Parts: sequence; structure tokens; C-alpha cells
Amino acid sequence: VFGLAGLMSARGRTIAELGEFGFLSTLLQRLRGGAGVVVGPGQDCAVIRCGGRNYLYTVDALVEGVHFDPRWASPRRVGRKSFMVNASDVAAMGGRPRFCVVSIGVPPAYACRDLHALQRGIVQAARACGAAVVGGNLSRSERVFVSIALLAEAPRRLVTRRGARPGDQVYVTGSLGDAALALQQLCTKPAMEPSAALPRRLLEPSPRLRAGSFLVGSGIVSAMIDVSDGLLQDLGHICRESDVGATIRTASVPVSAAYRRVQGADRRLALSGGEDYELMCTVPVPQVQRLEAHRARLGCRITRIGEVTRSQGVRLVGPHGETVDPVTCGFDHFRSGSQ
Ligand SMILES: [Mg+2]
Repeated sequence: VFGLAGLMSARGRTIAELGEFGFLSTLLQRLRGGAGVVVGPGQDCAVIRCGGRNYLYTVDALVEGVHFDPRWASPRRVGRKSFMVNASDVAAMGGRPRFCVVSIGVPPAYACRDLHALQRGIVQAARACGAAVVGGNLSRSERVFVSIALLAEAPRRLVTRRGARPGDQVYVTGSLGDAALALQQLCTKPAMEPSAALPRRLLEPSPRLRAGSFLVGSGIVSAMIDVSDGLLQDLGHICRESDVGATIRTASVPVSAAYRRVQGADRRLALSGGEDYELMCTVPVPQVQRLEAHRARLGCRITRIGEVTRSQGVRLVGPHGETVDPVTCGFDHFRSGSQ
């Protein structure tokens, strides 16, 4: 129970001091499950039960100056990505996006042409994922923001961040680090050619809906999360929720050819950079063979990168079997929610 003493001490602090996850943990203690709440806050999506069916429900926002810079993110791409980041949370629980409502804020001087492009980006992304935009709201704001709430069909089987067990194998889809590398390049050279492969990974993420749906529906995975905040951070969420640890072989973490050309064997951005929107899952050993046999049904690569351990925390093992300190990989404990 969230006591008065906790409330008082939290009130005197700023959100920056408390941190995103610190704040959320105090908030979550006050949100109680109600009728129809199958899975409450703290997962990629909530699961709600309505009219005899389960639905996934999630919300996310993109804010100018925080999540994008208008110099390199066109209004259409901002709209598209605003939907896709929500769809990625749905993919993490194996759901099927259906309906969304949109809240947009723009300054009065914002061009109507750009607002149309923003809306087109949202509508096209929703359609591409089998969903419809069914309502919205436009408000005046100093900075552009887009907030989307997405409702999705839930799969019969529920997979959250909580099911990982010692011995389970850790897998990740696609490749990691391209988005973080693109961000690094765009921040130093904003005029970069926008059609280049790396920026596209940052500006036009493709949520792994097909893979998520298969991995959950087939019963192959024990826990899953989408990699939005970086592999180390998001694996930390699975470990905390499941009360386990994990060992990751850094050399096994999949990176693209474009990443390798720039970074060589350096996997730091792949380990700690965010915005990949890939899926990370844990697979019990008896299911590994089934996963290997059904790879083609995922629509993307999937790579085994380590395993779940009984001892807590994430341990990194380098290419020669040496232990690697996550902090040297850019892992920020102040962002990790481990306080
Ligand atoms: Mg997520």
C-alpha cells in the first residue's frame, strides 16, 4: 500500500530525481485491479475483459524535442511512428491491432499541410497493421505531440514479462542498434540522406506483429517484451518481473551489415541503444526445437543470445568468455529503475 510517508517524500522531489520507472512504481501501487482487469499496469499492454472477450489496451506518445526532431523527422513519419510504437507493444503480447484514438497537439503556426501529412501517416500505419483510427482530438500546444491509445484483439494465450524461468533460452528478432546508431549520426549530421537504411530503422520502425502472434499463439515463448528502451533495459524488465537473471553473450547479439560497417565488432549500441522495436523472448528448452523448425513463419530472423539464470541481474559475457560490465556498454543505472 502506498503510505502517506511515501507520498510526502515523493512530493518534494522532481520527476527527474525520481526517474520514469521510480515514478511508475509508486503510481502502480495505487492502481488496483477492477472488474474485467485481467492484466493490470506494468506490462507492454493491459489485458481487459469486455463482453466475454479479452482485449489488449496500450497508449504511447511522441513529443517534439524529446522523441523526434522536425529537422529529420517529416510529419508523415512522425504520424506513422506514433502508431507503430503502440503496435510494437501489441506485438509483444501477440495481439492484433484493431482500433485507435489519437490526440494531437500543434502550435498555432503549424502548417495545415503538415497536419494533414501527420494524420495521413497515422491512418496509413494503422491500415497497414489492420487497424482503424476511430476518433481523436486536436489541441494547441507549444510543441508538436501525438498520443495514441490502441485497442487490440488479445490472443487466447496470455504472455507477459513474468513467465521466464531459469534455463529458458533468450532470443531476439531482427537486428539491434541501427536506430541508436542512426540517431547518433543524425544528431551530428542532421542533413543526412533520409532514405538511407539506418535512419529508416529509426524513423520507420516495423513492429513484429506476425512474429509476436506466432510466438505467443504457438505456446513457444514463456515471456516476451518489445525492445524499445534497449536490450539491457528491457531484459531487466523481464528479469525483475519474472524474479530471475540472465546471461547474454555479447557476440551473439544480432546486428545489421550497415551497423557492422560503422561499428565493427563494437556491440554497445546494440546492447543499450533504444527504439529497435524488435521482440525479445524467453523460450523453455523443450520448445527450442519447435522454434527452430518454425523459423520461416516469423517473417524475420530470430537469434539465440543467452539464457535465463536463477541468480538475479543481467550478466554479459564477451567473445572470449570474459565478464563484461554493462556500464561499459552504455547501460545507465539511473534509467534502469533498479533504485
Ligand atoms: Mg513495450
